[in-house]
Amino acid sequence: MSTTHPGPTHRTRPTRRYDDRRVPFPPEAVAAYRDAGLWGTRTLADEFRAAAERHPDRDAVVAAEGRLTYAALDAATDRIGAGLAGLGLAPGDPVLVQVTNRLETVLAWYALLKAGLVPVATLAAHRGHEIAHISWAVGARGHLVEHGTHGRSGAGTDLVAFALEQADGHPTLGHVLVLGAPAAAALPAGAVRLEDLGADLDPATARARVTAIQEGLDADDVAVFQLSGGTTGVPKLIPRQHAEYWYNARAYAEALGWTADDRVGHLIPVVHNAGISCGVHAVATVGACLVLTGHDLDTALPLLAAERTTSVLFGHVHYRAPEHPAYPALARHLRIVVLSGAKVSEELFAAVAADGAWVGQLFGMAEGLFLVTPLDGSAELRRTTVGVPVSPADEVVVLAPGTEDEVPDGEVGELCARGPYTLRGYYAAEERNAEAFTSTGAYRTGDLAAIRVLDGHRAVSIEGRIKDLINRGGEKINAEEVELLLLAHPHVVEAALVAMPDPRLGERGCAYLVTDGVPVTLEDVRAHLRGLGVATFKWPERVELVAALARTRVGKLDKKAMAAEVAGKLQEEGVLA
Ligand code: AMP
Repeated sequence: MSTTHPGPTHRTRPTRRYDDRRVPFPPEAVAAYRDAGLWGTRTLADEFRAAAERHPDRDAVVAAEGRLTYAALDAATDRIGAGLAGLGLAPGDPVLVQVTNRLETVLAWYALLKAGLVPVATLAAHRGHEIAHISWAVGARGHLVEHGTHGRSGAGTDLVAFALEQADGHPTLGHVLVLGAPAAAALPAGAVRLEDLGADLDPATARARVTAIQEGLDADDVAVFQLSGGTTGVPKLIPRQHAEYWYNARAYAEALGWTADDRVGHLIPVVHNAGISCGVHAVATVGACLVLTGHDLDTALPLLAAERTTSVLFGHVHYRAPEHPAYPALARHLRIVVLSGAKVSEELFAAVAADGAWVGQLFGMAEGLFLVTPLDGSAELRRTTVGVPVSPADEVVVLAPGTEDEVPDGEVGELCARGPYTLRGYYAAEERNAEAFTSTGAYRTGDLAAIRVLDGHRAVSIEGRIKDLINRGGEKINAEEVELLLLAHPHVVEAALVAMPDPRLGERGCAYLVTDGVPVTLEDVRAHLRGLGVATFKWPERVELVAALARTRVGKLDKKAMAAEVAGKLQEEGVLA
């Protein structure tokens, strides 16, 4: 085991896979974060192993499919991890992960890490357009999908057949791995049942194999690729490294004061940054239990209540949870409720607080920066701001957009951050990196924010965004990506995707189109995007045909005007209250 293996600052590091196409943390920052005790020297898998040794008999994860203690999860992931290595997948190989929230997802996560593989966090909702782009960009060697997803919400298609199709003719995708298939299920040729891997290995052999793999890794190697929701064009890859990624989760758990007795509910997609950093990894940093559910409140809330969940993260799609009839049974156990993803209304805050729980907010992004309202913050601070950075080493500034000039407290500008778990560059994206960072390496989040000084805290309030995306219940839709796809339609001449307000999801996409004279309907647009293999959540949900797109006086697209127009129409149509 590599608990004592020295970190990269202590030895000459061989050049690692990905090194030539990623932007490393500067050596002096690495040294400072390590000296301050923020970054450890273990890999993610070794951190999990250490947690399992501290808390063997505690529940690590509970889901509708069952439960696993830390010791059981550790042993099972040794076996599957060794089995993955036995397939010929080598440390550093990227594996696309396209699964929903279930027990086996956590098993798969740690098994991949133990095999030294690099999970690439995609969404179950992604289709050929996204998966082909990502798998080529990263050179994916494997594709892990879930069995039996056909017709299910969140995935909706037969992901096993989809993965086999994607692998066909692909230069690197050689392994289709399937989780959640019943033992008796016959899988198509070319697909391997994940849970069976390593079945022939005794526990000691399996452990020895994964231990040897971990000893060959470095705490500052790329451990995981997350996807960016908020850049231009197609999604960019965010390389997350072992030590900094674990620290991100540890700092979040500390900010909320969790202990090993906490039982932490998670309903939003778990193989996404929030799921990993606020769920899977964060619970393990303190030996708490992850109560993993799907997003449907009807099934999620009863499970969370039955498991006596003490802390839960509600994304915007779940802001109505307190109105659900199953909520009071859960509220009895809740100590901490974290709201994230959109503005929190007074009514929502009051409804959650009425049951006695501490209510707060999280601002988080796959690129890094986490802000959480402090435990000792007043109700006003916790309702009106997203709080303060989770790490003392986070450096947060609000800059006048497009400049490096800090705006005074209280004024709105672009939120920018540099710190011990915020990326220094997207993977293989030089052009994008040139504009996404300040000259001192702070990441320009694309979010508008202001510093509010409250109860002695310099808390951040989110005031909008600069980046051109639509936040559809937490799923980010990149406007430019969809516009380029719309322009590929034979009759579309100009296209602009704008956000229209939605009471449940927050925002949905509305396409403003100029055509060559042939009318294009919403159905046409959707059929077009289906044909291009674009994930359904990105499809526009309304089309406005216009003679010309609205422009400002200087000729720039005026998306604000278009968004205001469609919001007005929805109001008139009675769609919005
Ligand atoms: P992701 O990387 O998918 O987690 O998305 C990160 C983005 O979600 C941020 O840059 C914000 O635009 C948005 N976001 C996250 N948390 C919040 C929040 N509490 N309030 C408003 N927007 C948020």
